[in-house]
Amino acid sequence: MIPPGSTIGIMGGGQLGRMLSLAAAQLGYRCHVLAPEATSPAGEVSAETTCADYSDSAALAAFAKACDVVTYEWENVPVAPLDCIAGIVPLRPSPRALEVAQSRIDEKRFVTELGGRTAPFGFAETEAEVAAAMAVAGCPAIIKSNRMGYDGKGQARVMPGDDPVARWHEAGGVPAIIEGFVTFEAEFSVILARSPQGEIRFWDSAENVHVGGILDVSTVPASAAIETQVPAARALAAKVAEKLDYVGVLTLEFFATAEGPVFNEMAPRVHNSGHWTIEGAFTSQFENHIRAICGLPLGETALACHAAEMRNLIGEAAHGWPELLGNPANHLHLYGKHRALPGRKMGHVTRITLEPQGVQS
Ligand code: AMP
Repeated sequence: MIPPGSTIGIMGGGQLGRMLSLAAAQLGYRCHVLAPEATSPAGEVSAETTCADYSDSAALAAFAKACDVVTYEWENVPVAPLDCIAGIVPLRPSPRALEVAQSRIDEKRFVTELGGRTAPFGFAETEAEVAAAMAVAGCPAIIKSNRMGYDGKGQARVMPGDDPVARWHEAGGVPAIIEGFVTFEAEFSVILARSPQGEIRFWDSAENVHVGGILDVSTVPASAAIETQVPAARALAAKVAEKLDYVGVLTLEFFATAEGPVFNEMAPRVHNSGHWTIEGAFTSQFENHIRAICGLPLGETALACHAAEMRNLIGEAAHGWPELLGNPANHLHLYGKHRALPGRKMGHVTRITLEPQGVQS
């Protein structure tokens, strides 16, 4: 057990690190952020920051020596240099989880081997391989760069009549997965926390609506179309967590289809679609991640309200904070980012409903 008072290292300085650090502080921990930026949303609320590149082995070793456990809030942290940390302090979740989640093809193969369903997919590293991958995926299809894609970045759609090779170049002309377009009724995520002893707790699955490839709104409870698919999706998520001997919070995203849940992607970390848990669940995803990586008992994950809705504040939407605060039922979170660039997640707002009649808090 890593007791309160200890120092938790967080690799990555974004809003997820910020909310992890706030949850850790509540439990009496200090956080030390390692990020390439001198100031960051997470660094601003943490005891210490190391400003270093994720591949700087000397900086990673010094950082590890200053921490009692290290975690990460960004799944694209380079894996190889992490050896410098793992020999010094526990690194949770393990680098294996990062390795799988950093490559869309590895992730899809990993999940398929565990019995999960995905969209049909092919893989194209070169122009010459695009046609064969399209033959597997069918048309319409989505081309997604194998690495470093998030929030719809590094993606292009292929519609009937389009030139798939031109679209592959639009997606970066890099190694990419080409997957069939899934006809879904809704999208949802399964978020779980797993302790070092293997105890697993799930939060209620949120129904997620994306706009332009970026999460817009997450709602719990989800619609009936999703609720019936949650048990199968949870069973798969538990298998993934067990196979990876995962410690911490893990997220899997799914499409709810007429044939059952179709796995889309996983994130070895707390997730945007779980931000509602701060006000809407007995224990938030951030607190349970801290509890898990420190070996503390996991907190109750049940809903603490009748319903919750989390809406992202993207780009200039965050400038609407005075109006948002004008509604006393809104829980406003701003991440302290200075420039409201288009597509940038600047904050979020959560509304919870305490009773079916709509009493809000
Ligand atoms: P991703 O970056 O894979 O999370 O994709 C972002 C969003 O694009 C998803 O949440 C879906 O709304 C949509 N999307 C991604 N892949 C597919 C697919 N194969 N079929 C239909 N919609 C998709």
